[in-house]
Amino acid sequence: MLLRVGPAALPRVLRALGPAPVASMSTGTFVVSQPLNYRGGARVEPADSSGAEKEKAYEPATGRVIATFTCSGEKEVHLAVQDAKAAFKIWRQKSGLERGRVLLEAARIIRERKDEIATVETINNGKSVFEARWDVDTCWQCLEYYAGLAGSMGGEHVQLPGGSFGYTRREPLGVCVGIGAWNYPFQIACWKSAPALACGNAMVFKPSPFTPVSVLLLAEIYTQAGAPPGLFNVVQGGGATGQLLCQHPDVAKVSFTGSVPTGAKVMEASARGIKPVTLELGGKSPLIIFSDCDLENAVKGALMANFLTQGEVCCNGTRVFVQKEILGKFTEQVVKRTQKIKIGDPLLEDTRMGPLINRPHLERVLGFVKVAKEQGAKVLCGGEPYVPEDPKLKDGYYMSPCVLTDCRDDMTCVQEEIFGPVMSILSFDTEAEVLERANATPFGLASGVFTRDVQRAHRVAAELQAGVCYVNNYNVSPVELPFGGYKKSGFGRENGRVTMEYYSQLKTVCMEMGDVQSVF
Ligand code: NAD
Repeated sequence: MLLRVGPAALPRVLRALGPAPVASMSTGTFVVSQPLNYRGGARVEPADSSGAEKEKAYEPATGRVIATFTCSGEKEVHLAVQDAKAAFKIWRQKSGLERGRVLLEAARIIRERKDEIATVETINNGKSVFEARWDVDTCWQCLEYYAGLAGSMGGEHVQLPGGSFGYTRREPLGVCVGIGAWNYPFQIACWKSAPALACGNAMVFKPSPFTPVSVLLLAEIYTQAGAPPGLFNVVQGGGATGQLLCQHPDVAKVSFTGSVPTGAKVMEASARGIKPVTLELGGKSPLIIFSDCDLENAVKGALMANFLTQGEVCCNGTRVFVQKEILGKFTEQVVKRTQKIKIGDPLLEDTRMGPLINRPHLERVLGFVKVAKEQGAKVLCGGEPYVPEDPKLKDGYYMSPCVLTDCRDDMTCVQEEIFGPVMSILSFDTEAEVLERANATPFGLASGVFTRDVQRAHRVAAELQAGVCYVNNYNVSPVELPFGGYKKSGFGRENGRVTMEYYSQLKTVCMEMGDVQSVF
């Protein structure tokens, strides 16, 4: 008897995976039999599929293969870009209000299909379905937000001498490429496509080969909402497909979410074509807990900063600096709460931590815990492989969330992005000292501070070298606020009004009302 997905959601999830997916409900595993590329308003097999490299996508909860697909090569990438180019010609002519209407309708459909989208995300990514529903909320909100901004896109009028004048036009860029990571597959696709389409661009999106499925739902939703065929296309594949997209001469911009080393390659390839890039990269963010904080909120904040999506979150506050006076109390409460996190089948309603994305990644994260111990850190809880009781989950990639203490700034667990459920606790004495240590990292994505002292909160927020600073909370991402990094965590922003600027360009029109004053 399958109880992992609510019975009402099941037929809809099956529909979501394609008109005729093979589904083995007795194992709770879906096998996607539909093509995972989307071009010209329909699912398609890649044009160059014969003999091309094949990839498998897994269900992390069970270790089963849920989809096999072909990586897109040069021909398929070209066709997707050409379809996007054709759609751009139509889309750019529409008023902002008309574009906004399509986005609003897509937002409405996402909201209506929230449960099935969240379920598909959970099956392919492993995050708890409880959390996946939160993610989907941020997605329809994002589309609604940019739908509202689309109509207000415009320039300014400037008066010049002699009745002449100038004005600026904010214009779309053309075909934009989105390349996504596997930790928030549907959300990343929404955060990139919504502002891109609102500005009048078309998009070709490549998800991570680990999570190829849910973005197809978004592609179909855009079509259903009235987007012209080719406006939002999906190609599948890994690094080679990503490079083809960055190098394509008809691509105007690349927005990338992923690791720092890959970000450098994306920037390099795009630089050859003088293409602007947005880079949303990794982090090793500090969370600073002052002794005057509200302790319970700080403890909850530290868990939110470390254990969402099994710790696989770019902006996680994994270096938790705690002022010495409250170190004991804080640590004790953090451990108590961490041990209560329910790990297991992510499709069950009460699960709060599912499996990691795949076995190599699980082993990598466990390896960080091992090195931390060797370097002198103390494991207060977790950091072990976890085997759920349910036999169908025995091949899943689970581990128990880990709290490390006695950490030093020079330890590997404090310096490198682990991207798993591992919190490193460090102690500090003074504000000046902790700021120095918090900023001593090549990353600069996010940061956090817990204190009741208002002036200190603003002082610390101003001094932290990071694109985001959470005060008395952590890992909330309202779409109205820009999100993005400093230093090696990247540049450009997602969300917020400013992102309209990253998906558009400014034209100056200079209007002469008199005669030409020639020097010749
Ligand atoms: P990754 O860099 O391995 O891959 C990201 C994407 O890039 C994938 O789609 C991949 O197929 C593609 N890719 C790989 N090589 C490429 C190449 N040479 N050219 C073009 N594309 C290429 O990252 P990942 O493992 O998927 O994701 C984890 C990383 O992403 C972490 O470092 C995390 O911090 C970061 N991340 C950042 C944010 C953010 O908003 N700042 C959000 C989520 C994840």
